[in-house]
Amino acid sequence: MKAPAFAYVKPRSLAETFDLLERHGEGARLLAGGQSLMAALNLRLDAPRILIDLNGLDELSGIRVDRDSITIGALTRHRIVERSTDVSRYLPLIHQAMPYVAHAAIRNRGTFGGSIAFADAAAELPACCVALDARFVIRGRNGERQVAARGFFKGWYETDLRPGEVLVSGEFARLGDDYRYSFQELARRHGDYATVGVAACARMAGDVLDDVRIAFCGMGATPRLAIAAAKALEGRAKPHLDVSTAQALLEQDLAPFDDLYQTAATKMHLARVLLGRALARIAVPHED
Ligand SMILES: Cc1cc2nc3c(=O)[nH]c(=O)nc-3n(C[C@H](O)[C@H](O)[C@H](O)COP(=O)(O)OP(=O)(O)OC[C@H]3O[C@@H](n4cnc5c(N)ncnc54)[C@H](O)[C@@H]3O)c2cc1C
Repeated sequence: MKAPAFAYVKPRSLAETFDLLERHGEGARLLAGGQSLMAALNLRLDAPRILIDLNGLDELSGIRVDRDSITIGALTRHRIVERSTDVSRYLPLIHQAMPYVAHAAIRNRGTFGGSIAFADAAAELPACCVALDARFVIRGRNGERQVAARGFFKGWYETDLRPGEVLVSGEFARLGDDYRYSFQELARRHGDYATVGVAACARMAGDVLDDVRIAFCGMGATPRLAIAAAKALEGRAKPHLDVSTAQALLEQDLAPFDDLYQTAATKMHLARVLLGRALARIAVPHED
């Protein structure tokens, strides 16, 4: 199938983008890498009157390291994020997750912001952003606002973005060298969205786990923080890590649905397995 006919425009500034969004309202869609949007149009799941192509807006691209934070521009391609030495050094969780995001050809065009705005519940980057407690910078005609990743994802493909707004970037705090990270995923085939994925990190204060953050993808309508499981691990010394209690507590944290391929019970089992793998890796780190 081919997409329904649409008009196309490539603005040269964010101000022009806001004008276009205001003028065309509900009939407009922003185009970033097109890897999800064009598939939706070709399947006729959506029929916008006009696509507003963000690819002329260089200000939305790039990775910046500041004293206390790292910023990934919305238009930064997955491939750039995957290969960035700044990301591997300061955001190892995202560095570990990138090879799981689709295939190389899709990563060449797909963008960080497209993945966040599209908000597929099985996508890797939203779960990483939730685990890392990122903030999203959003701009509209009337100014800029910041939204915590933990409040941004509202439901299936639903986010806090309002009509007329553009996601500009994601900002991450620079965590200390004593943090450890693990991204684990199971998918039916390499490059597929996660059946279940887990993004986990924790500070290792000597032998003791602290600031434990665990977020899952594929386990509900949005990325899910595993709060009870993380709490059970807080303050535990490595030799006394009670992995099975944390695994059991996932029942409280997660609300998976049956889907075409897996029952909710199977997903819960896989989530426990992945949490066990992630904790093993955090407690006994390997070189990437
Ligand atoms: C075969 C296949 C397999 C895939 N597998 C995976 C996978 O395993 N994991 C995964 O995470 N993804 C996967 N993807 C999706 C891929 O990561 C996409 O790149 C991503 O979901 C969308 O990014 P994009 O830049 O292509 O956005 P687009 O397709 O251009 O846009 C997607 C949506 O986001 C909106 N949008 C884009 N940028 C902005 C912005 N800056 N501000 C506001 N709204 C914006 C658009 O209007 C549109 O609604 C897969 C895609 C395909 C085709």
